[in-house]
Amino acid sequence: MHDTDALVIGAGPVGLFQVFQLGLLGLKVHAVDALPVAGGQCAALYPDKPIYDVPGVAVCTGRELAASLLQQIKPFAGPDLGNLHLGDLVETITPRDDQGFVVTTQSGLSFQTRLIVIAAGAGAFVPKSMNVPGLEAARQVHYHLPADANQVAPWAGQHVMVSGGGEEALSAVVELASASVPHAAPARISLMHRRDQFTAEPKLEQAVRALIASGRINWVQGMPEQADVQDGDLRALHVLGPDGATQRVAIDHILIRQGISPKLGPLSNWGLALERKQIPVETVGFQTQMTGIYAVGDINTYPGKKRLLVCGFHEATMAAHAALAWLKPDEPQHLQYTTTSTVLKQRLGVA
Ligand SMILES: Cc1cc2nc3c(=O)[nH]c(=O)nc-3n(C[C@H](O)[C@H](O)[C@H](O)COP(=O)(O)OP(=O)(O)OC[C@H]3O[C@@H](n4cnc5c(N)ncnc54)[C@H](O)[C@@H]3O)c2cc1C
Repeated sequence: MHDTDALVIGAGPVGLFQVFQLGLLGLKVHAVDALPVAGGQCAALYPDKPIYDVPGVAVCTGRELAASLLQQIKPFAGPDLGNLHLGDLVETITPRDDQGFVVTTQSGLSFQTRLIVIAAGAGAFVPKSMNVPGLEAARQVHYHLPADANQVAPWAGQHVMVSGGGEEALSAVVELASASVPHAAPARISLMHRRDQFTAEPKLEQAVRALIASGRINWVQGMPEQADVQDGDLRALHVLGPDGATQRVAIDHILIRQGISPKLGPLSNWGLALERKQIPVETVGFQTQMTGIYAVGDINTYPGKKRLLVCGFHEATMAAHAALAWLKPDEPQHLQYTTTSTVLKQRLGVA
């Protein structure tokens, strides 16, 4: 059980900045996100698109913003960002009699926390699955590339089929084909999509088409109809082609990259009021109707709400100050600047 002052649910841009603000005020903080990478929508939906309205940053991509926010929380996210728990879903919140909450996750982590900040965006991002008879019994169904490119992947030395025709699938194909670490590379790569049309940046599409033309990638057009699975091991997919014929493609692993979609999921069972799938908050400290639970970023709603990064960053700042005042009612709260405060600089590790 992790014992902490604050737990942030969601490590999107607003959740990450929330970690920073709580840490800056001297609170111990952990964060959990369903995605294997931090950055929420910025990292998952528009990593390479330019953002022009982050104050003081003329332009940066979604991926760059996520990376900067991660860099910024380093002093507060534990050694090696160990307080950031990625690829895990917060499932339950149980209030405790003596104030605070116990929070549990899908993977079995639990947190004893004095306060919670929900920064859950439109819900937990979960990969779209593939509904193919037989496949549910297979162990070799994957949705994500390893977070570290040098990590040995489960398909190393074997045949992996990537499914999908969008940016996510195509970038995975390119990454797999260019695996810089020989022992992590698959022996064979197939790409399966129902149409011979992709929805990706022209440069990426060109790269994939070149890999197909060179024979590096085995192209399979069609719809999967059935999976051959023996004792939990995936053996093959039967794919219905555009000519009406079904071919059996022997594979060892399937990497499903058919997009992600946000699911409110467990959040709707936490006893919080919801208005059109959003959590109403007051606008002084962005607290929900439950004392000790705050909501910031795209998940909250209040009169005049704008789903913009800058608004979420403001809410995270206000929530951190309100939470501290609630946790330590007897301590005077003096506003301090990072430019001049020795205490803040010490917390940042720059004094
Ligand atoms: C294409 C596009 C372009 C955009 N461009 C701009 C722009 O130019 N400027 C701008 O200001 N805004 C822009 N936005 C909006 C901006 O991205 C959002 O306002 C911002 O991402 C909200 O951040 P967030 O942290 O609140 O939520 P999100 O980014 O949605 O992150 C929420 C995170 O919470 C996680 N989560 C949810 N529930 C759970 C759970 N139960 N357990 C674990 N994890 C959970 C999710 O997996 C997700 O990673 C754009 C959005 C899109 C889609």
